[in-house]
Amino acid sequence: MDTQRRILEIPVVIVGSGAAAYNAAVTLSEQGMSPDTFAILTEGRTDGTSRNTGSDKQTYYKLGLCGDGADSVHDMARDLFAPGCVDGDIALVEAALSVPCFLHLCRLGVPFPTNAYGEYVGYKTDHDPRARATSAGPLTSKMMTECLEAEFNRRGLRLFDRLMVIEIITESSGVCGLLALDRDAEDGTDPLVTVYCRTVIWATGGPAGVYADTVYPVGHTGCNGVPFRAGVPGKNLTEWQFGLASVDPRWNVSGTYMQVLPRLVSVDPDGTEHEFLSEYIPDAGRALSLLFLKGYQWPFDSRRARDGSSVVDLLVYRETKLRGRRVYLDYTKNPCGFDDIPYDALSDEAQDYLKKAGACFGRPVERLRHMNEPAYNLYLSLGTDLEKDYLEIALCAQHNNGGLDVDMWWRTKISGLLACGECAGTHGVYRPGGSALNAGQVGSTRAATFAAVRKMPPLRPAERDRVEQVYQAVYREICSISVPKPERDNTEKLLRSFRESMSAGAGAIREKEAIEKALSSRQFFLQIFTQSVCAHGTEGLVRAFRLYDTLTEQIMILSAMKDQIRNGVRSRGSAIYTDPEGECAPGFEDIFRYREDGGAHLSEVQLVTWNGGTPRCATRPVRPLPEGGGFFENVWRRYREDGYIGCIPEEGAPEGGSSCR
Ligand SMILES: Cc1cc2nc3c(=O)[nH]c(=O)nc-3n(C[C@H](O)[C@H](O)[C@H](O)COP(=O)(O)OP(=O)(O)OC[C@H]3O[C@@H](n4cnc5c(N)ncnc54)[C@H](O)[C@@H]3O)c2cc1C
Repeated sequence: MDTQRRILEIPVVIVGSGAAAYNAAVTLSEQGMSPDTFAILTEGRTDGTSRNTGSDKQTYYKLGLCGDGADSVHDMARDLFAPGCVDGDIALVEAALSVPCFLHLCRLGVPFPTNAYGEYVGYKTDHDPRARATSAGPLTSKMMTECLEAEFNRRGLRLFDRLMVIEIITESSGVCGLLALDRDAEDGTDPLVTVYCRTVIWATGGPAGVYADTVYPVGHTGCNGVPFRAGVPGKNLTEWQFGLASVDPRWNVSGTYMQVLPRLVSVDPDGTEHEFLSEYIPDAGRALSLLFLKGYQWPFDSRRARDGSSVVDLLVYRETKLRGRRVYLDYTKNPCGFDDIPYDALSDEAQDYLKKAGACFGRPVERLRHMNEPAYNLYLSLGTDLEKDYLEIALCAQHNNGGLDVDMWWRTKISGLLACGECAGTHGVYRPGGSALNAGQVGSTRAATFAAVRKMPPLRPAERDRVEQVYQAVYREICSISVPKPERDNTEKLLRSFRESMSAGAGAIREKEAIEKALSSRQFFLQIFTQSVCAHGTEGLVRAFRLYDTLTEQIMILSAMKDQIRNGVRSRGSAIYTDPEGECAPGFEDIFRYREDGGAHLSEVQLVTWNGGTPRCATRPVRPLPEGGGFFENVWRRYREDGYIGCIPEEGAPEGGSSCR
């Protein structure tokens, strides 16, 4: 292999180019950092979830800014904190910075709608007791990313594209470097890029590569394996949002897609069709009312899985995972064999809505085009015509509420390593819809503010030596897994099979035995990784490191699930643990015998540390919700004396302490 080295020296590096990463970069610049002191490194400038996903009305959750509905920072913090397993100081910061961050986006041009008086009118989203949500349309997060990117470019900031970070290098005093794979390196040359740096803001998005059934966009497969192996604990890793989504193209089938009552069909390998919803719920009025509800009760919710709308998700799971069928939405015919839907048999809620919308007629696709033509056009633009095509769906992973453990400045326990956006675990069992985008903006603002005021000495020779040692070790690994012939490359196949088994037994529906088996097989595989993995060329190496990253994340998640089962945590949020005591066989009917979590564990967070591949799990009580506020003269005096620094506890101080020194 040609060993010409590429070396960069950048004091502050932001990893990623989603809405959180761009906001971190813009904030560093706003805080006065000069463009030559920091840069973005990303594996794909236009990849990531923010830029490539959306929904029928993609939601941004913020403090109420309209009408006479009272709202306050503390009320919002309480609502973020209340669902359980959330640290109070983080909830308070996410509420306190919600308005500044939201208005920052508005000023940069994100078209959040106002009424004639300039009020940002809101609506209610899931787990939202007030109408705090807003939206710029189906592509809110894309618009956010593009507006932030335009500001980034206007300020002349730097971005290094096509660099996938594969190692965070630390010494006793904290971060000293990164290693990245240059995805454009010619096959046969050294693809490693060495980066000397003091501060890293990790903004790589959610762990999109964990599951095969996923609605994360195709161009996003990142996980948190790199920071986990560097020693950052994972927090609340078991808490996800799953829901029904189309698999090609990947898109949530929420809102109108369900409210127009499409036909749900499963197809056997031999082509036989089954209308499984009416098979399971013979009362058509009830079956269709549940389907309608799925529209706005989108996330799979264990509290609604026995007799609420989440039964629909469970039935889709049964068809795909237990019966080996593929499931489709068919908008060309009415469900249950009806020529005309008996609207009077629907629940009052469904009837009212469809009558008000003037949509009690025709076939599902006609109702969809009548109520929401853009929703029809969206699939058309992606190559699926709902006038004639079936739409394949599955119960998919959409968002990880957990992630890297951070304090209220979004610092990890490793000095110089901060994390923001979806990779940071700031949510708990439930979160209000839209709060992920708020958390991403608040977290990146905080992390960048901290990085901007952090004064760091230059790297010591020992730290540079350490970076060099890690480079040499990784280079040797690359040589040992590289193969000259493309047909020997097994990375794609391995990735697929490890993801499929996660979706089968450790997704929304979790089985003790499947979890234990998946955990031990992955731990074993990591031990024989270099002997078993064959990667051809640079793209093969990218997949090999992605596999390593994915296995690390899966091992952390499976360990966390196993620990929960052992500690008596039961079904909650978007997950059902079937048969935790081994009392019944894991058949479909047994799923309904799951036990709901009594709430005993909601006042703690679960932490998992990598520990060389044998993860250690622990719980600690949530940090309480601080009172916040303060006496103005005192706050002002401290602020005059110390500015931001006065409010930032020393690194290594008790985590996320809420008081200023
Ligand atoms: C279908 C769907 C609908 C959603 N709807 C909503 C909603 O309505 N409201 C809401 O609040 N949230 C929603 N979310 C969640 C929200 O969109 C995401 O949490 C958010 O966009 C994540 O932004 P981010 O900046 O953290 O990461 P991303 O936008 O995912 O960016 C991550 C970046 O990191 C880069 N990267 C990854 N790994 C590496 C590496 N090793 N080296 C270098 N670069 C790397 C990627 O290429 C990418 O550029 C939805 C998510 C999905 C999938």
